[in-house]
Amino acid sequence: MVARITVVGSLNMDFIVRTPRIPQPGETIVGGEFHTAPGGKGANQAVAAARLGGRVSMVGQVGNDAFAQALLEGLDVDGVDRTFVTRDRVAATGVAFIVVDEAGENTIVVASGANMHLSPADMAAAESAITEADVLLLQLEIPLATVVQAARVAHAHGVTVILNPAPACPLPHELLSLVDVLVPNAGETAQLTHSPVRNQAEIEAAAIALCELGVNTAVLTLGKRGALLVEKGEKKLVPAFEVASVDTTAAGDAFVGGFAVAVAEGRTLTEAVRWGNATGALATTQLGAQPSLPTRRAVEALLATRGGA
Ligand code: ADP
Repeated sequence: MVARITVVGSLNMDFIVRTPRIPQPGETIVGGEFHTAPGGKGANQAVAAARLGGRVSMVGQVGNDAFAQALLEGLDVDGVDRTFVTRDRVAATGVAFIVVDEAGENTIVVASGANMHLSPADMAAAESAITEADVLLLQLEIPLATVVQAARVAHAHGVTVILNPAPACPLPHELLSLVDVLVPNAGETAQLTHSPVRNQAEIEAAAIALCELGVNTAVLTLGKRGALLVEKGEKKLVPAFEVASVDTTAAGDAFVGGFAVAVAEGRTLTEAVRWGNATGALATTQLGAQPSLPTRRAVEALLATRGGA
């Protein structure tokens, strides 16, 4: 069965520069190697799902500049349908300036540009892409009102709604009631629940606090510890796969893409979390965001090792 996934979210061009250390305010330092790469949580998750064999449609907005063209071509390479990626005539394509030091620590400034012009009204034009999907995948790098509208359309048509609440912000109750599965990382969980998430006891408390926000099902991603599945108050830790990690960029996006494909294929939530863990783990074994996203063959091979069970 082919998983049909629609992503309503962001597309950015990432400008990445390596540097010996992160500069202080007012300081200029000479950096190292520079490169550009397609990014944005929406596009990353769309590409992650497409590499796993999903039939993926992207709904988003770019500007009318050269970066836009490069991003659209990037989606084409991975077979992501971009019929509903529109061009804003005024705003620039979203960009992210990423500085990475030798320890792998980074600072990021995002100029959202056209992403923040994707309006709730645009969801009417893209309605068929949402209603024909098995899963609608959402993040928070576009206007919140647009996220809510997309979720309303999906919910009304029985499409499973998965929200990766990144970057975290207070979520309206209506949105929480429309979401089937919330997938935050530890930092986002801390922000959503206003409580620290540093150890096992705090994770368990945060999981309960998330449920109290009105969430039926949540999956907390916990880096190399794996992910905690919380379903109607019942908690289950699904351990990570052991891999040689070199760069954790886009691990979260990979996890969400893998999880979404498995849900759309009708797998159980526990099995879907294993798919997320396998996809996330493999993404940490290569440098970069989209270049590090694994193929279905690689994910199935890792799942077959029965690690992370
Ligand atoms: P984010 O990238 O959003 O901070 P996490 O760090 O929680 O998200 O990573 C997402 C998922 O990727 C984890 O739940 C896990 O499955 C996988 N992952 C991340 N780091 C590692 C690692 N070092 N080893 C194995 N799996 C990892």
